[in-house]
Amino acid sequence: MTQKAFNTRFAPSPTGNLHLGHGYSALFAARKAQETDGKFILRIENIDDGRCSTEAEKGIYDDLSWLGLNWDKPVMRQSERMDAYKAALVTLLEKGVLYPCFCSRKDIQNAIDDDLNAPHSFEGPIYPKTCLHLSQGEIDVKMATGVPYALRLNSEKAEALIGRDLTWFDREKGEQTVDLSVMGDFVVARKDIATSYHLAVVVDDAAQGINLVTRGVDLFPATHAQVVLQALLGYPTPEYWHHKLITDDNGTRIAKRDNPLTLKQMRQSGMSAQDVLLWLEKEF
Ligand code: GLU
Repeated sequence: MTQKAFNTRFAPSPTGNLHLGHGYSALFAARKAQETDGKFILRIENIDDGRCSTEAEKGIYDDLSWLGLNWDKPVMRQSERMDAYKAALVTLLEKGVLYPCFCSRKDIQNAIDDDLNAPHSFEGPIYPKTCLHLSQGEIDVKMATGVPYALRLNSEKAEALIGRDLTWFDREKGEQTVDLSVMGDFVVARKDIATSYHLAVVVDDAAQGINLVTRGVDLFPATHAQVVLQALLGYPTPEYWHHKLITDDNGTRIAKRDNPLTLKQMRQSGMSAQDVLLWLEKEF
């Protein structure tokens, strides 16, 4: 039997310099494609205007080239894909599975403050559905007075359409049944742009024919949200491979907020790419 060719992607947000954790993730995706004669795709996830920079984007190309990685060209940049996200949003609106949410972060925090057991997702508190209970009249007034709003998934309506038996497969943890409560009524379109991380990723993974999504296990919960969007939009669900997060020599997870040594610093200090690859190799 021939092995299925896996099209994989590495999808960094150009908000800073890459570190060893990114190097591992990129190498992981590239290998799964290479081993099966599939495509390795690099996608620049730069919907966040204020946090992304072209300088950081250039750094990504330089770092990955230094590590000897080759990716499919041209590179998809999410900032150029807003029309595609809008079209998907219209489809979801037509299905009646979204509702406007006028809450600020503070409103949400206040609403859950009384509830010590309020559930959280990796993106923060699970939304307490405050705006789901607004009347059409209240919504009309807020919209007419220009109160900014996000669009959230109405998970009950979504469940009515997709059922309760939706599954996805993780190559590390096996078959998973979609659990809508993991992400709750998550944001599908932010207040400032007509998309969100989840919607953009789902639209682009489908457009690029990604059939194996590899990424860190920290994004495991996000997959519950993304598989729901795939089902609602009629897209195929890829396989997933959530890989471990690599740690430094002290066993601490390498994370951007701790200012770890970056690939750029390693490159500029004269370290050889071979040394970095050897270090990463022991993680596989
Ligand atoms: N852009 C996301 C990040 O940098 C990754 C998205 C994904 O792999 O689905 O964390």
